[in-house]
Amino acid sequence: MSPDNLHDLDDLYQEVILDHYRRPRNNALIHDANLEGEGFNPFCGDRILFTALVDELDCIQQVGIKGEGCAISQSSASIMGELLKGRTLDDALQMLVHFKQTMQDTAIVSLENAGLSELEVLQGVKKFPIRVKCALLAWTTLQDAINVHRNRQSG
Ligand code: ZN
Repeated sequence: MSPDNLHDLDDLYQEVILDHYRRPRNNALIHDANLEGEGFNPFCGDRILFTALVDELDCIQQVGIKGEGCAISQSSASIMGELLKGRTLDDALQMLVHFKQTMQDTAIVSLENAGLSELEVLQGVKKFPIRVKCALLAWTTLQDAINVHRNRQSG
């Protein structure tokens, strides 16, 4: 999705999405990461490389995300990275489940009440089912990364 296809979204939301797209936060990969995942969205060609450093208390200390693709996928990844820092893996999982639910209109609690109002900007893409995959790519990548991390710990 090129930036000019965002015209159906609210102006303010568009602005925030484009800002994250043009200046992605935490975009230096973590070399000694112990939480890693790679995501690809074949519908749009979006790619996400996710790395993070988790401490012994399961708390996410550093995040590094690199990617390419549409504005929705990349801004969602950038916002996710900012939200993840300082959270435990359990918090991160809760956050991703809740975000998925809001994108599928099945959430009971609003993003604002869940302390995730930063993600409101992505709600406009619900009108475009194919774009929902873009918005969720970083999050499914995170989920895979956490699953691998936990399997390794229990293995
Ligand atoms: Zn996309």
